[in-house]
Amino acid sequence: MRIFEEMESEVRGYIRSFPAVFDVARGSEIFDEHDNRYIDFFAGAGSLNYGHNNPAIKEALIEYLQHDGIVHGLDKATLAKQAFLTKLRDTIFAPRNMEYKVQFTGPTGTNSVETALKLARMVKGRSNIIAFTNAYHGLSMGSLAVTGNSFYRDESYGVRANSAFIPFDGYLGSGFDSMAYLRKLLTDQSSGVDLPAAIIVETVQGEGGIHVARDEWLQELESICREFDILLIIDDIQMGNGRTGTFFSFERAGIMPDMVTVSKSIGTGLPMSLLLMRPELDQWKPGEHTGTFRGNNLAFVAATKALEYWDTPDFAEGIAYKGGLFEKGLKAILEKHPEACGELRGVGMVWGIDFSDAGFASSISEEAFSRNMIIETAGANGQVLKFLPALTIDEALIEEGLKIIDDSIAAVLK
Ligand code: PMP
Repeated sequence: MRIFEEMESEVRGYIRSFPAVFDVARGSEIFDEHDNRYIDFFAGAGSLNYGHNNPAIKEALIEYLQHDGIVHGLDKATLAKQAFLTKLRDTIFAPRNMEYKVQFTGPTGTNSVETALKLARMVKGRSNIIAFTNAYHGLSMGSLAVTGNSFYRDESYGVRANSAFIPFDGYLGSGFDSMAYLRKLLTDQSSGVDLPAAIIVETVQGEGGIHVARDEWLQELESICREFDILLIIDDIQMGNGRTGTFFSFERAGIMPDMVTVSKSIGTGLPMSLLLMRPELDQWKPGEHTGTFRGNNLAFVAATKALEYWDTPDFAEGIAYKGGLFEKGLKAILEKHPEACGELRGVGMVWGIDFSDAGFASSISEEAFSRNMIIETAGANGQVLKFLPALTIDEALIEEGLKIIDDSIAAVLK
Protein backbone atom coordinates (compact mmCIF):
# COMPACT_ATOMS: atom_id res chain seq x y z
CA MET A 1 0.00 0.00 0.00
CA ARG A 2 3.08 2.25 0.27
CA ILE A 3 2.73 4.03 -3.09
CA PHE A 4 -0.84 5.01 -2.20
CA GLU A 5 0.21 6.44 1.16
CA GLU A 6 3.14 8.21 -0.44
CA MET A 7 1.27 9.70 -3.40
CA GLU A 8 -2.46 9.91 -2.64
CA SER A 9 -4.03 12.72 -0.67
CA GLU A 10 -5.05 12.12 2.93
CA VAL A 11 -8.64 12.44 1.71
CA ARG A 12 -8.55 8.84 0.45
CA GLY A 13 -11.39 6.90 2.04
CA TYR A 14 -12.44 3.48 0.74
CA ILE A 15 -8.79 2.54 0.30
CA ARG A 16 -8.56 2.70 4.10
CA SER A 17 -11.74 0.71 4.73
CA PHE A 18 -10.67 -2.04 2.32
CA PRO A 19 -6.91 -2.34 2.59
CA ALA A 20 -6.09 -4.60 -0.36
CA VAL A 21 -4.95 -3.96 -3.91
CA PHE A 22 -7.74 -5.18 -6.20
CA ASP A 23 -7.29 -6.51 -9.65
CA VAL A 24 -10.15 -8.52 -11.13
CA ALA A 25 -13.91 -8.55 -10.61
CA ARG A 26 -16.80 -10.55 -11.97
CA GLY A 27 -20.45 -10.19 -11.02
CA SER A 28 -20.50 -9.80 -7.23
CA GLU A 29 -17.00 -11.09 -6.60
CA ILE A 30 -13.82 -9.07 -6.54
CA PHE A 31 -10.27 -10.44 -6.32
CA ASP A 32 -7.14 -8.81 -4.98
CA GLU A 33 -3.64 -9.00 -6.39
CA HIS A 34 -3.03 -12.25 -4.51
CA ASP A 35 -6.20 -13.80 -5.89
CA ASN A 36 -8.07 -13.54 -2.60
CA ARG A 37 -11.78 -13.50 -3.34
CA TYR A 38 -14.20 -11.05 -1.68
CA ILE A 39 -17.98 -10.95 -1.92
CA ASP A 40 -19.02 -7.46 -2.92
CA PHE A 41 -22.06 -6.14 -1.03
CA PHE A 42 -21.19 -2.55 -1.91
CA ALA A 43 -21.26 -2.63 -5.72
CA GLY A 44 -19.34 0.56 -6.37
CA ALA A 45 -21.57 2.58 -4.05
CA GLY A 46 -24.54 1.65 -6.23
CA SER A 47 -22.79 2.05 -9.60
CA LEU A 48 -22.66 -1.65 -10.36
CA ASN A 49 -26.30 -2.71 -10.19
CA TYR A 50 -25.63 -5.01 -13.16
CA GLY A 51 -22.49 -6.46 -11.57
CA HIS A 52 -18.79 -6.17 -12.34
CA ASN A 53 -17.91 -6.96 -15.95
CA ASN A 54 -21.40 -8.11 -16.79
CA PRO A 55 -20.78 -10.53 -19.70
CA ALA A 56 -23.40 -9.06 -22.07
CA ILE A 57 -22.27 -5.49 -21.40
CA LYS A 58 -18.61 -6.44 -21.71
CA GLU A 59 -19.28 -8.11 -25.04
CA ALA A 60 -21.10 -5.03 -26.36
CA LEU A 61 -18.15 -2.85 -25.30
CA ILE A 62 -15.53 -5.11 -26.87
CA GLU A 63 -17.50 -5.20 -30.10
CA TYR A 64 -17.79 -1.42 -30.11
CA LEU A 65 -14.07 -0.93 -29.47
CA GLN A 66 -13.14 -3.43 -32.15
CA HIS A 67 -15.28 -1.49 -34.58
CA ASP A 68 -13.26 1.65 -33.57
CA GLY A 69 -16.48 3.24 -32.38
CA ILE A 70 -16.13 6.82 -31.16
CA VAL A 71 -15.20 6.91 -27.48
CA HIS A 72 -15.16 10.63 -26.76
CA GLY A 73 -17.72 12.64 -28.64
CA LEU A 74 -18.36 15.87 -26.71
CA ASP A 75 -22.04 16.36 -27.42
CA LYS A 76 -21.82 15.39 -31.06
CA ALA A 77 -24.42 13.05 -32.52
CA THR A 78 -23.17 9.47 -32.63
CA LEU A 79 -24.82 6.17 -33.37
CA ALA A 80 -24.08 5.06 -29.80
CA LYS A 81 -25.88 8.06 -28.34
CA GLN A 82 -28.77 7.62 -30.76
CA ALA A 83 -29.14 3.99 -29.71
CA PHE A 84 -29.09 4.93 -26.02
CA LEU A 85 -31.73 7.66 -26.37
CA THR A 86 -33.94 5.39 -28.44
CA LYS A 87 -33.68 2.58 -25.88
CA LEU A 88 -34.32 4.96 -22.98
CA ARG A 89 -37.42 6.34 -24.70
CA ASP A 90 -38.83 3.00 -25.79
CA THR A 91 -38.00 0.79 -22.81
CA ILE A 92 -38.14 3.19 -19.88
CA PHE A 93 -40.12 6.34 -20.72
CA ALA A 94 -42.87 5.01 -23.00
CA PRO A 95 -44.30 2.33 -20.66
CA ARG A 96 -44.27 4.87 -17.81
CA ASN A 97 -45.90 7.67 -19.83
CA MET A 98 -42.90 9.90 -19.29
CA GLU A 99 -41.94 12.66 -21.65
CA TYR A 100 -38.72 13.92 -20.13
CA LYS A 101 -36.06 15.71 -22.13
CA VAL A 102 -32.57 14.38 -21.45
CA GLN A 103 -29.51 16.50 -20.70
CA PHE A 104 -26.12 14.81 -20.59
CA THR A 105 -24.55 16.49 -17.62
CA GLY A 106 -21.10 14.95 -17.31
CA PRO A 107 -19.28 12.06 -15.78
CA THR A 108 -20.49 12.13 -12.19
CA GLY A 109 -23.67 12.45 -10.16
CA THR A 110 -22.74 15.80 -8.71
CA ASN A 111 -22.71 17.26 -12.23
CA SER A 112 -26.32 16.28 -12.65
CA VAL A 113 -27.37 17.74 -9.29
CA GLU A 114 -25.64 21.03 -9.99
CA THR A 115 -27.22 21.23 -13.42
CA ALA A 116 -30.65 20.68 -11.86
CA LEU A 117 -30.09 23.40 -9.25
CA LYS A 118 -28.82 25.86 -11.84
CA LEU A 119 -31.69 25.20 -14.22
CA ALA A 120 -34.30 25.41 -11.45
CA ARG A 121 -32.96 28.80 -10.39
CA MET A 122 -32.90 30.02 -13.97
CA VAL A 123 -36.43 28.85 -14.76
CA LYS A 124 -38.01 30.14 -11.56
CA GLY A 125 -35.86 33.26 -11.12
CA ARG A 126 -35.35 32.41 -7.45
CA SER A 127 -32.22 31.30 -5.66
CA ASN A 128 -33.36 29.33 -2.64
CA ILE A 129 -33.37 25.54 -2.70
CA ILE A 130 -34.80 23.36 0.05
CA ALA A 131 -33.25 20.02 0.96
CA PHE A 132 -33.53 17.54 3.84
CA THR A 133 -31.58 16.56 6.89
CA ASN A 134 -29.19 13.68 6.16
CA ALA A 135 -29.48 14.30 2.42
CA TYR A 136 -26.51 13.47 0.23
CA HIS A 137 -26.36 15.12 -3.17
CA GLY A 138 -22.62 15.42 -3.73
CA LEU A 139 -19.63 17.24 -2.35
CA SER A 140 -18.56 19.85 -4.91
CA MET A 141 -19.52 23.40 -4.02
CA GLY A 142 -22.92 23.56 -5.73
CA SER A 143 -24.24 20.20 -4.60
CA LEU A 144 -22.62 20.52 -1.18
CA ALA A 145 -25.04 23.35 -0.47
CA VAL A 146 -27.87 20.80 -0.38
CA THR A 147 -25.98 17.96 1.32
CA GLY A 148 -27.18 17.85 4.90
CA ASN A 149 -24.22 16.63 6.90
CA SER A 150 -21.90 19.04 8.64
CA PHE A 151 -18.94 16.63 8.38
CA TYR A 152 -18.76 17.47 4.69
CA ARG A 153 -19.79 21.10 5.00
CA ASP A 154 -18.34 22.72 8.07
CA GLU A 155 -15.03 23.81 6.64
CA SER A 156 -16.34 24.79 3.21
CA TYR A 157 -17.20 28.31 4.20
CA GLY A 158 -20.04 29.89 2.36
CA VAL A 159 -21.97 26.94 0.94
CA ARG A 160 -24.84 27.27 3.37
CA ALA A 161 -26.35 30.32 1.72
CA ASN A 162 -29.94 30.00 0.58
CA SER A 163 -30.68 26.56 1.84
CA ALA A 164 -33.07 25.18 4.40
CA PHE A 165 -32.95 21.61 5.64
CA ILE A 166 -36.28 20.06 6.53
CA PRO A 167 -36.28 16.90 8.66
CA PHE A 168 -36.53 13.86 6.38
CA ASP A 169 -39.53 11.59 6.79
CA GLY A 170 -39.50 9.94 10.20
CA TYR A 171 -36.15 11.44 11.12
CA LEU A 172 -37.43 13.13 14.27
CA GLY A 173 -39.72 10.23 15.06
CA SER A 174 -43.24 9.53 13.85
CA GLY A 175 -44.70 12.33 16.01
CA PHE A 176 -43.08 15.09 13.95
CA ASP A 177 -44.93 16.13 10.80
CA SER A 178 -42.19 17.51 8.59
CA MET A 179 -44.60 18.33 5.77
CA ALA A 180 -46.66 20.51 8.14
CA TYR A 181 -43.39 22.16 9.18
CA LEU A 182 -42.45 22.76 5.54
CA ARG A 183 -45.86 24.27 4.86
CA LYS A 184 -45.42 26.55 7.86
CA LEU A 185 -42.01 27.71 6.63
CA LEU A 186 -43.45 28.47 3.21
CA THR A 187 -46.45 30.41 4.49
CA ASP A 188 -45.05 32.19 7.53
CA GLN A 189 -43.52 35.49 6.44
CA SER A 190 -41.28 35.48 9.47
CA SER A 191 -39.77 32.04 8.80
CA GLY A 192 -36.75 33.55 7.08
CA VAL A 193 -37.12 31.04 4.25
CA ASP A 194 -37.47 32.55 0.80
CA LEU A 195 -39.79 30.82 -1.63
CA PRO A 196 -37.49 28.19 -3.15
CA ALA A 197 -36.97 27.50 -6.84
CA ALA A 198 -36.86 23.80 -6.07
CA ILE A 199 -36.96 21.10 -3.46
CA ILE A 200 -34.48 18.29 -3.90
CA VAL A 201 -34.99 14.93 -2.23
CA GLU A 202 -33.97 11.28 -2.34
CA THR A 203 -36.84 8.81 -1.97
CA VAL A 204 -34.54 6.62 0.11
CA GLN A 205 -31.52 8.25 1.66
CA GLY A 206 -28.53 6.12 0.77
CA GLU A 207 -25.46 7.82 2.22
CA GLY A 208 -27.72 9.28 4.91
CA GLY A 209 -28.32 5.81 6.37
CA ILE A 210 -31.13 4.06 4.45
CA HIS A 211 -34.10 6.16 5.49
CA VAL A 212 -37.07 5.16 3.35
CA ALA A 213 -39.61 7.93 2.76
CA ARG A 214 -43.22 6.82 2.96
CA ASP A 215 -45.27 7.02 -0.24
CA GLU A 216 -47.77 9.43 1.37
CA TRP A 217 -44.94 11.70 2.49
CA LEU A 218 -43.57 11.86 -1.06
CA GLN A 219 -47.07 12.49 -2.41
CA GLU A 220 -47.59 15.32 0.08
CA LEU A 221 -44.23 16.78 -0.91
CA GLU A 222 -45.24 16.69 -4.55
CA SER A 223 -48.54 18.42 -3.82
CA ILE A 224 -46.81 21.14 -1.77
CA CYS A 225 -44.48 21.74 -4.73
CA ARG A 226 -47.47 22.08 -7.06
CA GLU A 227 -49.35 24.35 -4.64
CA PHE A 228 -46.41 26.75 -4.15
CA ASP A 229 -45.04 26.59 -7.71
CA ILE A 230 -41.81 24.92 -6.61
CA LEU A 231 -39.95 22.45 -8.80
CA LEU A 232 -39.59 18.94 -7.40
CA ILE A 233 -36.21 17.35 -8.08
CA ILE A 234 -35.81 13.68 -7.24
CA ASP A 235 -32.19 12.69 -6.83
CA ASP A 236 -32.28 9.13 -8.14
CA ILE A 237 -28.53 8.80 -8.48
CA GLN A 238 -28.20 6.00 -5.95
CA MET A 239 -31.76 4.68 -5.70
CA GLY A 240 -32.59 4.68 -9.42
CA ASN A 241 -31.72 1.99 -11.95
CA GLY A 242 -33.77 -0.61 -10.12
CA ARG A 243 -32.23 -0.37 -6.68
CA THR A 244 -35.58 -0.08 -4.91
CA GLY A 245 -37.38 -2.54 -7.21
CA THR A 246 -38.57 -0.28 -10.04
CA PHE A 247 -36.43 1.53 -12.59
CA PHE A 248 -37.07 4.91 -10.95
CA SER A 249 -37.32 4.88 -7.18
CA PHE A 250 -40.26 7.31 -7.13
CA GLU A 251 -42.52 5.01 -9.15
CA ARG A 252 -43.75 3.31 -5.97
CA ALA A 253 -45.24 6.62 -4.78
CA GLY A 254 -46.90 7.38 -8.13
CA ILE A 255 -45.36 10.84 -8.32
CA MET A 256 -43.93 12.60 -11.39
CA PRO A 257 -41.03 14.89 -10.49
CA ASP A 258 -40.16 17.94 -12.59
CA MET A 259 -36.54 16.86 -12.78
CA VAL A 260 -34.71 13.63 -12.04
CA THR A 261 -30.98 13.25 -11.55
CA VAL A 262 -29.63 9.94 -12.84
CA SER A 263 -26.10 8.60 -12.62
CA LYS A 264 -24.16 5.71 -11.02
CA SER A 265 -25.60 2.48 -12.49
CA ILE A 266 -27.01 4.08 -15.64
CA GLY A 267 -23.46 3.82 -17.05
CA THR A 268 -22.99 0.37 -15.44
CA GLY A 269 -19.76 1.60 -13.83
CA LEU A 270 -18.63 3.88 -16.65
CA PRO A 271 -18.88 7.62 -15.96
CA MET A 272 -22.20 9.12 -16.99
CA SER A 273 -24.83 11.40 -15.54
CA LEU A 274 -28.08 12.72 -16.89
CA LEU A 275 -30.69 15.23 -15.95
CA LEU A 276 -34.25 14.41 -16.94
CA MET A 277 -36.55 17.43 -17.10
CA ARG A 278 -40.09 18.19 -18.07
CA PRO A 279 -39.91 19.53 -21.67
CA GLU A 280 -41.14 23.02 -20.72
CA LEU A 281 -38.22 23.40 -18.30
CA ASP A 282 -35.67 22.94 -21.06
CA GLN A 283 -35.00 26.66 -21.35
CA TRP A 284 -31.28 26.47 -22.01
CA LYS A 285 -29.77 28.43 -24.86
CA PRO A 286 -27.53 26.24 -27.06
CA GLY A 287 -24.16 25.77 -25.38
CA GLU A 288 -25.19 27.59 -22.21
CA HIS A 289 -24.34 24.68 -19.93
CA THR A 290 -21.71 22.41 -21.34
CA GLY A 291 -18.47 20.56 -20.55
CA THR A 292 -15.93 18.22 -22.09
CA PHE A 293 -16.97 14.81 -20.80
CA ARG A 294 -20.66 14.83 -21.62
CA GLY A 295 -20.56 12.20 -24.30
CA ASN A 296 -18.81 9.09 -23.09
CA ASN A 297 -19.88 6.77 -25.86
CA LEU A 298 -18.63 3.68 -24.06
CA ALA A 299 -21.08 4.52 -21.31
CA PHE A 300 -23.86 4.89 -23.92
CA VAL A 301 -23.06 1.46 -25.34
CA ALA A 302 -22.99 -0.13 -21.88
CA ALA A 303 -26.17 1.67 -20.79
CA THR A 304 -28.08 0.66 -23.92
CA LYS A 305 -27.20 -2.98 -23.30
CA ALA A 306 -28.08 -2.76 -19.61
CA LEU A 307 -31.51 -1.30 -20.35
CA GLU A 308 -32.38 -4.58 -22.07
CA TYR A 309 -32.83 -5.97 -18.55
CA TRP A 310 -35.97 -3.82 -18.40
CA ASP A 311 -37.54 -5.22 -21.58
CA THR A 312 -39.45 -7.82 -19.57
CA PRO A 313 -40.78 -7.88 -15.97
CA ASP A 314 -38.33 -10.64 -14.96
CA PHE A 315 -35.61 -8.31 -13.74
CA ALA A 316 -37.90 -6.35 -11.42
CA GLU A 317 -39.39 -9.62 -10.16
CA GLY A 318 -35.88 -10.86 -9.40
CA ILE A 319 -35.12 -7.70 -7.41
CA ALA A 320 -38.27 -8.19 -5.33
CA TYR A 321 -37.42 -11.84 -4.73
CA LYS A 322 -33.78 -11.28 -3.81
CA GLY A 323 -34.67 -8.21 -1.74
CA GLY A 324 -37.00 -10.52 0.20
CA LEU A 325 -34.11 -12.89 0.85
CA PHE A 326 -32.11 -10.01 2.29
CA GLU A 327 -34.96 -8.83 4.46
CA LYS A 328 -35.66 -12.29 5.82
CA GLY A 329 -31.99 -13.15 6.30
CA LEU A 330 -31.12 -9.89 8.04
CA LYS A 331 -34.17 -10.10 10.31
CA ALA A 332 -33.10 -13.59 11.36
CA ILE A 333 -29.57 -12.37 12.07
CA LEU A 334 -30.86 -9.53 14.26
CA GLU A 335 -33.18 -11.88 16.14
CA LYS A 336 -30.21 -14.13 16.80
CA HIS A 337 -28.13 -11.23 18.17
CA PRO A 338 -30.58 -9.04 20.14
CA GLU A 339 -27.67 -7.54 22.09
CA ALA A 340 -26.46 -5.88 18.85
CA CYS A 341 -29.61 -3.68 19.06
CA GLY A 342 -29.80 -3.27 15.31
CA GLU A 343 -32.74 -1.69 13.51
CA LEU A 344 -33.36 -2.94 9.98
CA ARG A 345 -34.53 -0.51 7.29
CA GLY A 346 -34.79 -0.86 3.56
CA VAL A 347 -36.71 -1.68 0.42
CA GLY A 348 -35.93 -3.67 -2.75
CA MET A 349 -32.20 -4.36 -2.77
CA VAL A 350 -31.06 -1.62 -0.41
CA TRP A 351 -30.93 -2.47 3.26
CA GLY A 352 -29.31 -0.97 6.30
CA ILE A 353 -28.87 -2.04 9.90
CA ASP A 354 -28.74 0.96 12.21
CA PHE A 355 -26.68 0.07 15.30
CA SER A 356 -26.81 3.67 16.66
CA ASP A 357 -23.10 3.15 17.28
CA ALA A 358 -20.62 4.07 14.57
CA GLY A 359 -17.77 2.19 16.25
CA PHE A 360 -19.80 -1.01 16.32
CA ALA A 361 -20.91 -0.67 12.68
CA SER A 362 -17.38 -0.05 11.44
CA SER A 363 -16.03 -2.95 13.51
CA ILE A 364 -18.48 -5.24 11.73
CA SER A 365 -17.45 -3.86 8.35
CA GLU A 366 -13.78 -4.47 9.27
CA GLU A 367 -14.53 -7.93 10.61
CA ALA A 368 -16.47 -8.76 7.44
CA PHE A 369 -13.54 -7.56 5.34
CA SER A 370 -11.22 -9.90 7.23
CA ARG A 371 -13.72 -12.63 6.27
CA ASN A 372 -13.55 -11.60 2.61
CA MET A 373 -16.59 -9.42 2.23
CA ILE A 374 -16.88 -5.80 1.15
CA ILE A 375 -19.60 -3.91 2.96
CA GLU A 376 -19.71 -0.20 3.81
CA THR A 377 -21.26 1.93 6.51
CA ALA A 378 -23.54 4.94 6.03
CA GLY A 379 -25.52 7.40 8.15
CA ALA A 380 -24.81 10.74 9.77
CA ASN A 381 -22.04 9.21 11.87
CA GLY A 382 -21.47 5.99 9.96
CA GLN A 383 -23.66 4.02 12.38
CA VAL A 384 -25.50 2.05 9.68
CA LEU A 385 -24.20 -1.10 8.00
CA LYS A 386 -25.28 -0.71 4.40
CA PHE A 387 -26.22 -3.54 2.00
CA LEU A 388 -26.03 -2.50 -1.62
CA PRO A 389 -25.27 -5.62 -3.68
CA ALA A 390 -25.49 -5.88 -7.45
CA LEU A 391 -29.07 -6.59 -8.53
CA THR A 392 -27.72 -9.48 -10.59
CA ILE A 393 -26.20 -11.23 -7.56
CA ASP A 394 -27.14 -14.90 -7.33
CA GLU A 395 -28.86 -16.56 -4.42
CA ALA A 396 -25.87 -18.63 -3.33
CA LEU A 397 -23.75 -15.50 -2.89
CA ILE A 398 -26.52 -13.81 -0.90
CA GLU A 399 -26.60 -16.79 1.47
CA GLU A 400 -22.81 -16.88 1.71
CA GLY A 401 -22.66 -13.13 2.36
CA LEU A 402 -25.38 -13.22 5.02
CA LYS A 403 -23.50 -15.97 6.82
CA ILE A 404 -20.39 -13.76 6.89
CA ILE A 405 -22.44 -10.91 8.36
CA ASP A 406 -23.88 -13.22 10.98
CA ASP A 407 -20.39 -14.51 11.90
CA SER A 408 -18.93 -10.99 11.89
CA ILE A 409 -21.58 -9.68 14.29
CA ALA A 410 -21.02 -12.68 16.55
CA ALA A 411 -17.25 -12.10 16.49
CA VAL A 412 -17.54 -8.38 17.29
CA LEU A 413 -20.01 -9.06 20.13
CA LYS A 414 -17.69 -11.62 21.72
N1 PMP B 1 -26.70 12.03 -5.03
C1 PMP B 1 -26.81 10.85 -4.41
C2 PMP B 1 -28.14 10.41 -3.92
C3 PMP B 1 -25.67 10.06 -4.22
O1 PMP B 1 -25.79 8.89 -3.57
C4 PMP B 1 -24.44 10.51 -4.72
C5 PMP B 1 -23.17 9.68 -4.55
N2 PMP B 1 -23.11 8.83 -3.48
C6 PMP B 1 -24.38 11.75 -5.36
C7 PMP B 1 -25.52 12.47 -5.51
C8 PMP B 1 -23.09 12.29 -5.89
O2 PMP B 1 -22.67 11.54 -6.97
P1 PMP B 1 -21.13 11.52 -7.38
O3 PMP B 1 -20.36 10.99 -6.22
O4 PMP B 1 -21.10 10.61 -8.58
O5 PMP B 1 -20.76 12.91 -7.75
